[in-house]
Amino acid sequence: MERNEEKRFGRGANACRRCGRRRGLVRRYEIYLCRQCFREIAREIGFRKFN
Ligand SMILES: [Zn+2]
Repeated sequence: MERNEEKRFGRGANACRRCGRRRGLVRRYEIYLCRQCFREIAREIGFRKFN
């Protein structure tokens, strides 16, 4: 069952790690979040360079 986790979050992960959406996925900086979630966490971590 270890491979299941690897398939979800390992290489080739194609969906947001936070909400599971594939739409607008941001793969920059290896964060693998959709743009919506990225904007939310970006504010938390103080990342403001993303437009
Ligand atoms: Zn998301």
